[in-house]
Amino acid sequence: MSGPVAQPAAKEELPLLGEEFAVEFANSLYRSPHEHLDFLATPPAVRSWFSLAQPAAGLTLPREVSAELARDLRSVRDAVRALLEHAAAVRGPARPPYGPETATAVQTLHASARRARAHLILEASAGSEGPGWTLSHEGPLPDVLVAATASRCILFLGGEDIGNVRICARPGCPMLFVRRHRARRYCHESCGHNLRQARYYRARTVRTAAQ
Ligand SMILES: [Zn+2]
Repeated sequence: MSGPVAQPAAKEELPLLGEEFAVEFANSLYRSPHEHLDFLATPPAVRSWFSLAQPAAGLTLPREVSAELARDLRSVRDAVRALLEHAAAVRGPARPPYGPETATAVQTLHASARRARAHLILEASAGSEGPGWTLSHEGPLPDVLVAATASRCILFLGGEDIGNVRICARPGCPMLFVRRHRARRYCHESCGHNLRQARYYRARTVRTAAQ
């Protein structure tokens, strides 16, 4: 299958790994040698992704997702994807330098984050999970969504986990993930399994041909 994804109907159809927002968001573009799938290609696709992706919880979609909003979200996604790929190529452990080669992507994130005014709110309830603060934006909903999306990406890119971002080790698989265990090389066990199977068949074919 190739081309834009009009409207994925179910969570299972989305490339979600249970990662943090910035990584899941970057994975909404799946470009491999065989497939080019954009899970934010159209306004309905944007609505599906934001409603079904668990880390997008707390982000409010306007009632109407315009083609312009979908395009602006795709630019934020493309920027964070470029910066995460850069981080994966630099391969931690510290924060990667965001130098001249990443300047355009950084500018896109900054311009997007500036689209709505923001302030921090201290969480009043004790014992709840997650950080003890919320970043709150104000303004028209499309601006708030773009700004909040970019801000979440910036927080991740400047955070502690950035040095552990990796691209799946299966050749051609574009999925990004955060390596929390040293042994993890694949985005999903199915990728490791497919690769082992391919190697097995290749070895067998070579052996059979040599006989
Ligand atoms: Zn993979």
